[in-house]
Amino acid sequence: MEVIRTKSELKSILQRRRKEQSRIGFVPTMGYLHSGHTSLINEAAAVSDVTVVSIFVNPLQFGEGEDFTTYPRDEDHDQREARKAGADILFLPSPEEMYPSPMRFNLHVQEGADVLCGASRPGHFDGVATVVMKLFQLVTPDAAFFGQKDAQQAALITNMVEDFDIDTRIHVIPTIREEDGLAESSRNVRLLPEEREEAPQIYRILNEGASLAEKDGPWTAESWMQDAFQALSGELDYAEIRSYPSLKREQDRTMIAAAALKYKHVRLIDNVIWNTDQRRETE
Ligand code: AMP
Repeated sequence: MEVIRTKSELKSILQRRRKEQSRIGFVPTMGYLHSGHTSLINEAAAVSDVTVVSIFVNPLQFGEGEDFTTYPRDEDHDQREARKAGADILFLPSPEEMYPSPMRFNLHVQEGADVLCGASRPGHFDGVATVVMKLFQLVTPDAAFFGQKDAQQAALITNMVEDFDIDTRIHVIPTIREEDGLAESSRNVRLLPEEREEAPQIYRILNEGASLAEKDGPWTAESWMQDAFQALSGELDYAEIRSYPSLKREQDRTMIAAAALKYKHVRLIDNVIWNTDQRRETE
């Protein structure tokens, strides 16, 4: 596995590989790699000749008062995990390398960024779209791999690729969970012990919400979920049922139950997606 820190080096290696007709698979991450990330890398490596993983904590997607400076980082651990999972190239740019001067242009997401996580994180998805667009320009991947854990992000990136005619196929990979159901997240290390004990309830409530939606309809289920989340110690940001991937408040063939909860040092998100014609989790 090659560790690369500059855009120019990355481009020249990939240009060479592209001339050899190699298929490039790409997994963008913010690091502190866990089994959710490594499952994306495994999937990429299975269908690519060259698997590129990036680790970049993107300042553009963090709002004021969010955890940019305290976001967990461990480069040695990440290098080991990325290599083991099958990465060929690990791209580790500094913020100065990615943004040598303040951006004069910015992508603005016109649809789907003002609901769910976007409602309480204004500008977040513009920052995500901007960095993913830059990374796609540098890597020019044939395929890129995103987690269902961040379902809104996966939906918006899929739209971006379609709107801008980018020749990258977006794969969305099921959420990897700890044994008790808590979705793997780099931020889980920041949960206090009593919060960690409570956190698996998030997935349990979302699953029950999805079952109830099938029985009593989405809006009854949504209000049940909101009550159930209010009973937890974490502060409820949102708990909603929407169509997926359109994220509208309407019934469709595929639906999502999604929630975000704020604990003392960390905000957790999770979701369950199901087909309404056949109650079955797609994860
Ligand atoms: P992050 O480093 O949190 O920005 O995540 C990088 C990629 O890994 C994103 O596409 C996430 O959706 C994905 N990811 C994060 N957690 C999980 C998980 N538990 N299971 C599957 N994918 C995940």
